[in-house]
Amino acid sequence: MLAEEVGDQVEVTLVDRNDSFAFGYSKLDMMFRGASLESVSLPYSKVVKPGVTLVNEEIRSIDVASRSVETDSGTLEGDVMVIALGADYDLAATPGLAEHGTEFYSFAGARDAAGPVAGFNSGHAVVGVCGAPFKCPPAPSECALMLSDELTRRGVREDCEITLTMPLGSPVPPSPETSAALMAEFEARGITFRGGMRPVRLEPGLVVYEDGTELPFDLFLGIPRHRAPEVVIDSGITEHGYVPVEPATLKTKFEGVYAVGDVATAEVPKAGVFAEGAARVVARQVIAQVTGGDDPPPFDGKASCYIEFGEERIARVDIDFLSGPEKTGEFNAPSQALRQEKSDFGSSRRARWFGL
Ligand SMILES: Cc1cc2nc3c(=O)[nH]c(=O)nc-3n(C[C@H](O)[C@H](O)[C@H](O)COP(=O)(O)OP(=O)(O)OC[C@H]3O[C@@H](n4cnc5c(N)ncnc54)[C@H](O)[C@@H]3O)c2cc1C
Repeated sequence: MLAEEVGDQVEVTLVDRNDSFAFGYSKLDMMFRGASLESVSLPYSKVVKPGVTLVNEEIRSIDVASRSVETDSGTLEGDVMVIALGADYDLAATPGLAEHGTEFYSFAGARDAAGPVAGFNSGHAVVGVCGAPFKCPPAPSECALMLSDELTRRGVREDCEITLTMPLGSPVPPSPETSAALMAEFEARGITFRGGMRPVRLEPGLVVYEDGTELPFDLFLGIPRHRAPEVVIDSGITEHGYVPVEPATLKTKFEGVYAVGDVATAEVPKAGVFAEGAARVVARQVIAQVTGGDDPPPFDGKASCYIEFGEERIARVDIDFLSGPEKTGEFNAPSQALRQEKSDFGSSRRARWFGL
């Protein structure tokens, strides 16, 4: 948006240690649909537009007071800084997770979990969320349902048990309708859901929960505890683990510094669709600042999330967290038609962002 609307008036520098982007939901495709990391990666080199400089380096430190970052090749300083470094995973916070379980929330983890999933033919699989908040609240439920599908496809479902545990009381608390539909689906598919449970450690073949419950497992698919990247915490801008922002504007308390996406606490779930909406609001504010235009409308916290229900069906939940007096999450029942809509969602972003 900055390049297109004010590209001749601003210099935009995009810093990322990765050289490509991939949709979060591609992790499920890598675990269950044989997708490779290469096939789901969209290279940033396609993003470079007039006025945009891509710096493919690690940010080593952030100075929020001077709006500058240190990378291996020096200091970058801006009139505006947008922190969008996402959330990191703290595997060590759940001792034994790295040694005795798997995690599928990173791209490398999803790639590595594909083998154990393919080799799982009998016994107990536990999908375990190790802390909250976590990205894309429906994703652990999607994982349990897609695992059930995969086992059915291979003719071994009856030899396997699937349990989904999470610290939250229901699968998607902001949308009771979505939670109810997921619970009905779990029941129909023989998946056990246990809410209000947080693993404190894993031992070989055993997960131990905060309340003392122990569950034996043959396959543990974990969602590690999340936290802001260390470089963001070290900058001193975080409170309670993440960057506090004014939800309407995504402004932090530091002049000219915004934060969007999973790294921020903007009163919306940690999901890509909210990162996208928040980034648009920031871009509009910067454009208004450059052109002397009016302040843009506030971030409305509205977005639609697609949920894999298994058996090739997809549901959609339309979330509105900030525009009205209440947080709402309207559920649209799973269908084959919504599969096409999710596919269109992906291709429209690929075209818009990467020209692909
Ligand atoms: C299994 C799964 C399924 C999901 N499904 C969906 C879905 O269907 N819909 C949805 O909306 N969301 C979904 N999500 C969530 C979504 O992926 C994230 O919420 C989204 O990617 C957050 O965007 P972000 O820009 O805040 O962070 P990220 O996408 O994590 O981007 C952060 C970027 O910062 C870079 N970075 C970090 N630290 C540094 C550093 N020190 N120096 C330089 N660069 C750095 C990283 O390389 C990365 O490119 C899913 C997530 C998972 C795990």
